[in-house]
Formats: sequence, structure tokens, C-alpha cells
Amino acid sequence: MDNNLTDSFGRQITYLRLSVTDRCDLRCTYCMAENMTFLPRKDLLTLEELDELCTSFITRGIRKIRLTGGEPLVRRGVMSLIKGLSRHRESGALDEITMTTNGTQLANFADELKACGVERINVSLDSRDPETFLRLTRRAALDDVMRGIDAAQEAGLNVKINTVALKGTNDAEIPDLMKWAHGRGMDMTLIEVMPLGEIDEDRVDQYIPLTAVRESLEGQFTLIDTPLKTGGPARYVKVAETGGLLGMITPLTNNFCAGCNRVRVTCTGQIYTCLGHGGKLDLREAIRGDNPKEQLDALLNLAMHQKPEKHNFDISDRGAAPAVARHMSVTGG
Ligand code: SAM
Ligand code: SF4
Repeated sequence: MDNNLTDSFGRQITYLRLSVTDRCDLRCTYCMAENMTFLPRKDLLTLEELDELCTSFITRGIRKIRLTGGEPLVRRGVMSLIKGLSRHRESGALDEITMTTNGTQLANFADELKACGVERINVSLDSRDPETFLRLTRRAALDDVMRGIDAAQEAGLNVKINTVALKGTNDAEIPDLMKWAHGRGMDMTLIEVMPLGEIDEDRVDQYIPLTAVRESLEGQFTLIDTPLKTGGPARYVKVAETGGLLGMITPLTNNFCAGCNRVRVTCTGQIYTCLGHGGKLDLREAIRGDNPKEQLDALLNLAMHQKPEKHNFDISDRGAAPAVARHMSVTGG
């Protein structure tokens, strides 16, 4: 029997996104409410269990692991997890370990990340304007993020900037943000806001389609379509004037699920096979049980069987409930 993870639509799953914590030191308005109830600490998998889980996934053909959250760098001991997982890179079983971070703690960890074999990271940054950053994240941490980006580049990490496009908040700043990123040798990816979890605002007021952002950018820049794929949903254009790449992740305006290669696991060991659906399976009981290998294998097979064909995100009805109740910070962005 083929040991690899292939779902019922024939998609091979080679990419694991692991949320190591649902907690965060920021409160981005499109991601979280100001007052959040986080998962009870007692339910968290230990770092050893997270390693065990990742290792099981690798034996089933996972080639790339991204640590995310919440904010992965606020999970105590996260570097020891990465250091441990680097053995799979060294053995050739894994192609890449990477991370998505808000950058606030990056200055403390950049050198260590590089030393553990991490080559590239994504840093989420929606504004370089201190007031907009504060309004968006509800925390005055822009200087920390900037120091973090400096440290990451000095450490030799390849940094990509992730920016969620938000109507009336940062959409006017996107051209400047892109020029700044490209000027520093960083590619940038724009993301459409998704209806995940209750927040304090209505996402109808936040959502701007990337088709509109692209049209506006085309007034100032020459965007050249490229066939480049980096194993994710982003479609890339080359910006002639800056020489940099601009990715666009368009869950709302252009569904990309046919090429999906990923599953997500939370810090409590729940596997979600689709960001846009509620279906999950509990891997924690399996790894704590008597026959962890057999039980995990069986659950992963079931997960492949249950993985939905696509999400059905929609942001058009004011007051509508989010597509799924859990926040992006639980499943891992
Ligand atoms: N805290 C880290 C960070 O911000 O990079 C990692 C986790 S965060 C949930 C991962 C990515 O998801 C970030 O780029 C963030 O902007 C994005 N994100 C969060 N909520 C989102 C939403 N509702 N729609 C679209 N993107 C979202
Ligand atoms: Fe935290 Fe990232 Fe969510 Fe912002 S997007 S609140 S940094 S988890």
C-alpha cells in the first residue's frame, strides 16, 4: 500500500502547518477579538508530543513543515522543537522547516532560527505607519517588528512579507509597502481577508478583493504574470519597476483548492484538513494511547478520506456568521 497521504480527490498532501500556540502578543482586528478565550494550557501537546506528531507525518510523506500560530515565537521552548526537527532535514526526510511570525520577537530568535537550518520565513506586516499599525494590531509593537526584520536579514534568513489587504485601513499604503519590501530584497504576498472566527468588526467593512488592489497597482506599476509556484496558493507577478515578486492569495476571488497540498494541526493535536471547514480529528488521544503508530496511521487515512474538495468562503452579507467559528490563530494561518 502507498504510505503517502493522498486524499479522495487525488491530491497528495506533503505540507503540514502546525500551530504551536493559539496565543499571541498582538490582536490584529481581522484575526482576533480584543478579548479572546484561548485554549486551556492543560490541553496543549508538549514539545515532545509535537515532535512525535511531526515525525509521524514525515513518515507519511510530509516534506515541508511550517510552524505558525497564534504567534509561534511566544510558545516557550519552540526553538528546541525546531532544533529537534532539523534532524529530519539533515537526514533528507524533510525539505524545509519554516515559520510564519508577526516579527515582534524575531530579534531574539533570528540567529538561532538560521542555526537550526531555517532558510526562509514569512513575516506578517500590514502597515509601516505607527498609527495604522497600532489601530490594526491594537499593540504599539512596530519598532520591535522592524528590529526583528533587520535581525532576520542580518542572520541571512530569506524574508517574505505577508500583508492582508484591508479596505480603508492599509489599501492606500500597499504600493509604498511593496516598494519598501522589494527595496530590501524581500518578496511580498497580499492576502484577502477570510471569514474565520468572530471578531469585533464586520469583515464586510474590511474586505477588499485583490482584483481591485491589482487594478490600482497597475496604475503605477507594470505587473508581469509569472508561472512561478512556491508550493502554496499564491500566484506571482513580477513588478518591472522594483524587480521584486508580488504574490496574491485570493481565497475569495479565485478559488485555488484544486492544488491544495496541506493539512493543519493545532497545538492541542486536532487535525483540520481544510481551513474553511469545521471537520477535525483528534490526534492527541491517539499519540497518548497504547498503539500510537497504528492509531495515528488510521486517523491520517480517515483524514484523507474526509478532506473536503474546497472551501466556500463568502464575505458579502453584513452581519453574517463567519464561515467557521474558529479563528485563524487556532488552525494556524
Ligand atoms: N502570528 C503569526 C503572524 O501573524 O504571522 C502567525 C499566525 S497568523 C494567523 C498567520 C497569517 O494569517 C498572518 O499573515 C495573518 O495576517 C493571517 N490572517 C489572520 N487572520 C486572517 C483572516 N481572517 N484572513 C486572512 N488572513 C488572516
Ligand atoms: Fe496574532 Fe498573527 Fe493573528 Fe495578528 S494575525 S493577532 S499577529 S496570530
